[in-house]
Amino acid sequence: VIFILVGCQTPPEPIHDEEIEPVQSLSVDDITVGLSMDTLIEERWQKDRDMFSEAVQELGADIIVKAANGNDALQIAQAERMISDGVDVLVLVPHNAEAAATIVGRAQAAGIPVISYDRLVKNANVDLYISFDNEEVGRLQAEAMLKAVPSGQYVYIGGASTDNNAHLMREGVYEVLKPHIDAGRIQVVYDEWTDAWKPSEAKANMLEALSANDHDIDAVIAANDATAGGVIEALKEAGIEQTIPIVGQDAELQGITRLIDDQQLMTVYKSIKALTQKAAEVAIKLAKDEPLETSHLINNGKKDVPTIFLTPVSVTKETIKETVIDDGFHSHESIYLE
Ligand code: BGC
Repeated sequence: VIFILVGCQTPPEPIHDEEIEPVQSLSVDDITVGLSMDTLIEERWQKDRDMFSEAVQELGADIIVKAANGNDALQIAQAERMISDGVDVLVLVPHNAEAAATIVGRAQAAGIPVISYDRLVKNANVDLYISFDNEEVGRLQAEAMLKAVPSGQYVYIGGASTDNNAHLMREGVYEVLKPHIDAGRIQVVYDEWTDAWKPSEAKANMLEALSANDHDIDAVIAANDATAGGVIEALKEAGIEQTIPIVGQDAELQGITRLIDDQQLMTVYKSIKALTQKAAEVAIKLAKDEPLETSHLINNGKKDVPTIFLTPVSVTKETIKETVIDDGFHSHESIYLE
């Protein structure tokens, strides 16, 4: 349709300036990013906090960080506070994948976009999920263990059942083990979640696994390095002299030190630098209402969530330098001169 104005002396006046000007997106120095964390107990989360804060500030925005010590009610209260304080985007590491949906609902009602960081919030309208491929974490662990222990009795010490990642990692482990289980080479003689990922719980579970199997265990896949530490304490307490091959995840300094001391077979390195930089970048974009490019869609029970996946890397004693040292995750001194 073409409208032609005939005989009009003056063009019509704009009614209000705001109505004809395009909506300006926020300038980066007006943006505040809220980071709501489950915990700071594992070493990695301290790196996440520090590197993410740095990355956000380098991009020119402000940041508020709160950690909830594994307490759902506290995490909800902290996030609500950030929402009422007017953060422009909320970056959420849920303690409990389901309970955290409350936070997402509140943010959404306030018009604040939410990024599910490292862990997926289930059944909620999150705007973006950024993490590592957690099934791949499990696959890498199982592959490394099969290479060292191609047959025998395996124990699986899982993560927290309230954490979606723990389920994905376990799926990855079983995907690789299944043909070996079916062929009768591998028996998984114990498989248990670890409440809140606590090393003390992992230790208690491992003691149970040992006594249920008359100490006849050939391999332990632990969901992360912290739980692997609990497993090792259990072995000591049970008076087991020879080391049973153990794998973990996170490339924690203690995990890396155990690789060198032949106390642990492998760990999985996830570049927190890459994760935090990418997350800071997309957080600012979401706050500015700019379009995002994502490679995956992951269904969280409510919607297909646009997802960014980074790649985890297997680390053994032989590959410490080319992975965690070269990437600046740990210094050579901190590893070898501890
Ligand atoms: C993370 C792991 C971490 C674990 C315990 C998981 O969701 O992906 O890196 O070790 O939580 O905090």
